[in-house]
Amino acid sequence: MKENKYIPGIYNYCDRWCERCPLKNRCFLHAREEKRLTRHKARGEDPYDWNIVMQDIKEDFKETLTLLRKFAEEQGIDLNALPEEEPEPYDPSNHPLTKTANNYFKMTRKYLEELRKIINKEREDLAKRVEIIPPAEGDIETLRGIISNYEVISWYHALILVKIHRALQSKMEHDKDEFAQSDVDGSAKIAYIGIMKSMNALKVIYDWNEDLRDVTLTLLVEIEKLRNGIDREFPGHRTFKRPGFDK
Ligand code: SF4
Repeated sequence: MKENKYIPGIYNYCDRWCERCPLKNRCFLHAREEKRLTRHKARGEDPYDWNIVMQDIKEDFKETLTLLRKFAEEQGIDLNALPEEEPEPYDPSNHPLTKTANNYFKMTRKYLEELRKIINKEREDLAKRVEIIPPAEGDIETLRGIISNYEVISWYHALILVKIHRALQSKMEHDKDEFAQSDVDGSAKIAYIGIMKSMNALKVIYDWNEDLRDVTLTLLVEIEKLRNGIDREFPGHRTFKRPGFDK
């Protein structure tokens, strides 16, 4: 990894939305993915074809295993002499915060279906209006903004659940481990950022569409519970610095 070009570990605490990432040029993972796409396109292959993806994953595993063995050798760790029984991972599925996140995820999935229909209808109406009178630039811009906010809600509704689950799991499994504490705070921070962005997006939809107001409000109440829950459960997220993103 070229130290100056890439920010070490930046991809460990990001939201994986590479398309919108302001630091993608400093991310090793992103560079690797771009290289993968270019390589397959040059060979006339579809990089998203399932078989191609599986082949790449296999090669990645092989590479990771080689690096792991090299690291273990340098550290004097005998990989064949590791304890045979792994402790059962903690399952935070019944934690109240996971339940709320799960609830938010399910409600949002339905909400997005409804919102998508409304957006499509608005798009059609706009296209019809164009035939009669030139479209108002403002209407097009408004719809673009709504679509962008739809994407925000859609992207984060699953990520929030995954990150909360991970933060809880790391917290319960490794209470006193310093490295794991970063995982706890970093995961909670990403969930929190997703929550704040989703809240803003939901407020825009609330103002835009009267028919969706009640259900939008219900989602805002639910997501506010998550915001409070993260603050209570993971206070360290507030001071955690993500490599590259936080000063
Ligand atoms: S840091 Fe940015 S470019 Fe890299 S994986 Fe995360 S979102 Fe994608």
